[in-house]
Amino acid sequence: MVIVMKPNSGEKEIREITKVLEQLGLGVHISKGTERTIIGVIGDKRVLCGVPLELMPGVEKLVPIVESYKLAGRTFKPEPSVIDVSGVKIGGKELVIMAGPCSVESMEQILEAARAAKKSGAQFLRGGAFKPRTSPYAFQGLEEEGLKLMQEAKEETGLLIISEVTSEKNVEIADKYVDMFQIGARNVQNFQLLREVGRSQKPVLFKRGPSTTIDEWLNAAEYIMSEGNYNVVLCERGIRTFETATRNTLDISAVPVVKSLSHLPIIVDPSHAAGKSQYVLPLSKAAIAAGADGLIVEMHPNPRCALSDAAQQLTPEEFDNLCKDISRIATIIDREFKYGG
Ligand code: PEP
Ligand code: MN
Repeated sequence: MVIVMKPNSGEKEIREITKVLEQLGLGVHISKGTERTIIGVIGDKRVLCGVPLELMPGVEKLVPIVESYKLAGRTFKPEPSVIDVSGVKIGGKELVIMAGPCSVESMEQILEAARAAKKSGAQFLRGGAFKPRTSPYAFQGLEEEGLKLMQEAKEETGLLIISEVTSEKNVEIADKYVDMFQIGARNVQNFQLLREVGRSQKPVLFKRGPSTTIDEWLNAAEYIMSEGNYNVVLCERGIRTFETATRNTLDISAVPVVKSLSHLPIIVDPSHAAGKSQYVLPLSKAAIAAGADGLIVEMHPNPRCALSDAAQQLTPEEFDNLCKDISRIATIIDREFKYGG
């Protein structure tokens, strides 16, 4: 349930209501919009039986939440969220592009990728250090050493760092290096891991699983948010369908659907959807045209020699063309992207 406050209600009324709810053992989440404040009530509503909340000063109405997720939903927070990651805002007017190799492989490789990403206008360097590979015999990533290399690339270029975490233990390690945690598709319902990043205040890029419905995905986001971390950005990366021409099927519909159900920003990963570099540009353009707040794109100085996901990574030149096209689309849809930084 949410309590919608009257436009002219003040701090005193909000405090009074919070006190009553907390005394009853309920969780209280306050969302201050430009026009009015909404108080989200979490917990077993049966304790409210006989409590005339609607008669308390400042209360306009009580609205039940029908969705099983609450903090991630629009009823709780009607206005879109803008997530600030070390000064870069995701979900505002400016589009955000994250780019870099699938895996961090060497100093030379990550530096070259970072320089290319920066030159074309990306704000984030991506790179996997803890790699959740389909086969246990495939390259598993450089782990902490990879994060250190990313940090050096950050020092040179000023790009922010995003990298995937796959266990509670490596959340602790990655926390020292990254600006944003990435939770990958395979861990979308690893609830212990979600709670762990939820206990941090560090922003989380939360990918959709290959077989999760949007409802399941938003419920999973709720696990992070219910621990107190509201800095969640969703990422559509393709879902499993009967089609085999691409690695996954990019669910473009997820962009407007998520925007209607949730206030959280959503970006798109065209690389893991396509699985083939030739489709990354058209999917990126479609995603931005559909209203995505940004992209996370795999780019490698020498894709053919990549230790993971070689077929889908763009060359720096291809990535540069993508950024140029995105900046053109941005002007048409009243967004911004500074091609060339
Ligand atoms: C990745 O971004 O490197 C990755 C493994 O992606 P996903 O979790 O979407 O498969
Ligand atoms: Mn990859």
